[in-house]
Amino acid sequence: MTSTIDTAALHDWISRLAVAVKEKREWLTELDSAIGDADHGANMARGMAAVVEKISSGAPETIDELLKGVGMTLVSSVGGASGPLYGTFFLRMGAAAGAVSTLDAAGLTAALRAGLDGIVARGKPEAGDKTMYDAMAPAVEALDSALAEGDDLGTALAAAADAAAAGRDATLPLVARKGRASYLGERSAGHLDPGAASTTFLFETLASAAQSAEG
Ligand code: ADP
Ligand code: MG
Repeated sequence: MTSTIDTAALHDWISRLAVAVKEKREWLTELDSAIGDADHGANMARGMAAVVEKISSGAPETIDELLKGVGMTLVSSVGGASGPLYGTFFLRMGAAAGAVSTLDAAGLTAALRAGLDGIVARGKPEAGDKTMYDAMAPAVEALDSALAEGDDLGTALAAAADAAAAGRDATLPLVARKGRASYLGERSAGHLDPGAASTTFLFETLASAAQSAEG
């Protein structure tokens, strides 16, 4: 039964996320070539490679230090819309976590929600706009309700990852109302949103990092 997550497990999360975006780089590029400018795979791979380099040189002890480093590196190394959005997510998440080395389930949920709020403040996405928000908001909701029902953190994070994937898949028929894809209007329908796809990796790797810390 997992009930907390520490800096080392979150460090592992970030490393796993870097591996996932590197492995799925071509797919993210393919998705972005259909409704964007074909750079989401490159943006995420470049950003996460810079993040890994940053956090491997002197492992941060506190969660805010770790996540703020991730956020600042993404903001400065990714040119596309996703850099400032994911950067803000990690900066806000770190600030909400604070100078601690362990978070309980409620603390982790509050930090993830603060990250989501940061994306909303920055990009003004609403549900159904066909963005990363459409994967992230259901994931945070699912985490919250699984914990409220008494699930342990590992199980609740797995539910959050499933909700992210369902949210990503639900972007398929949507007409984009934010970002570059919105320029296509009706022609954006029939394609998955690239940012919703990368957000799903974010929750899948968080679930697997928590599971691995438990085992
Ligand atoms: P760019 O669009 O500048 O080429 P990327 O291709 O890296 O940047 O990222 C595109 C993704 O960013 C989209 O698939 C979408 O999920 C997300 N996105 C774009 N604009 C917004 C916004 N205003 N709010 C939330 N997410 C957004
Ligand atoms: Mg793009």
